[in-house]
Amino acid sequence: MFGGIKVGTLAGIPFFVNPSWFLVFGFVVFSLATSQLPLWVPNLSSWVYWPLAAFVALLFFGSLVAHELGHSIASQRYGIPVRAITLHLFGGVAQLGREVSRAREEFWIAVAGPAVSVVLSALFWGGYELLAGPLPIVAGALRMVAVLNIGVVLFNLVPGFPLDGGRVLRALVWGITGNYRRSTWVAATAGRLVGLVLIFLGIYLAVTQNDLGSLWLALVGWFLVSLARQSYQQAVVLDTLRKTPVSEAQVRLITVPGRLTIDELFAGYISTTGRRFYLLEDAGQPAGVVDAYELTRLPRHLWPVTPILSVMTPITGIPQVSLSASAMSALDTLEEARTPLLRTVEDGRTIGIVSRNDLVQLMRRPQPSRA
Ligand SMILES: [Zn+2]
Repeated sequence: MFGGIKVGTLAGIPFFVNPSWFLVFGFVVFSLATSQLPLWVPNLSSWVYWPLAAFVALLFFGSLVAHELGHSIASQRYGIPVRAITLHLFGGVAQLGREVSRAREEFWIAVAGPAVSVVLSALFWGGYELLAGPLPIVAGALRMVAVLNIGVVLFNLVPGFPLDGGRVLRALVWGITGNYRRSTWVAATAGRLVGLVLIFLGIYLAVTQNDLGSLWLALVGWFLVSLARQSYQQAVVLDTLRKTPVSEAQVRLITVPGRLTIDELFAGYISTTGRRFYLLEDAGQPAGVVDAYELTRLPRHLWPVTPILSVMTPITGIPQVSLSASAMSALDTLEEARTPLLRTVEDGRTIGIVSRNDLVQLMRRPQPSRA
């Protein structure tokens, strides 16, 4: 949901910063320099608070990235690739390559982030204790970072999806009931309630305390409410994909001799069957797949002289999925291979093709709307 500027890679994971993050960075530095740090590290001349605030903010956002790395490394341990870590307006996010498939995975991945924050908080607090004598200003800054990290842990332990605590809640309900969709509904409903409470609290504080900064709370609340709703909708889609066999999304392949030219394929097959994908056979063996739509993009004068064998996608370049697999595992295979097509295989024979589009169509089917 958040794109951004690629800054580098961390443990092999691309690391992005969304432009909105600069806004929040500025806001955090401002709020630290003008109100928080003077309370935590008092009696300094006022200009000192600005570089100190930038120092604290950098360590704090570094901690957020480490928190996301915690989730990421736990995911990778379960074989779930991590696409990106992104810092954005509302914090950080690790974008997983696929959804978790077991309650146990969900639980440990969710717990790993806050665990990192707890360890970091302890380390920063240790730094504060060590430096309190010789470098009191730096020590004060480290204590501030330790406190902010505890804040991250406390906020994330709130049991509303998609916060970490909400994921733990979903994992527990999922583990007990075995029902993925219902557990997501419970956790997402809790997430919506938490979001609504934050919205009202933010507005209430802004009005009664005359503190516009509280509107930030309302904004975070609104973000939570919309994420919780999206997450539940996504869970319904995923649940459907898990229960739908890939055969419902596949298109049966028509086998054609590989010696044909593009012209001959059009005249003999495409114009009569109207199908889009064809399996080419060469010397009795499946050699590759051609996509009629791709062929139409080739210059017309080449059609009579171009053998389809020279424009096919070799069969070895198309990942396969068993015909009995679920649409979900087909989508996972597509995502991991980063290809637009998959072939379905039955008894070792390629019989059909599944495109990303076909799977997306499957997701768009009307869904029953209750958990
Ligand atoms: Zn987290």
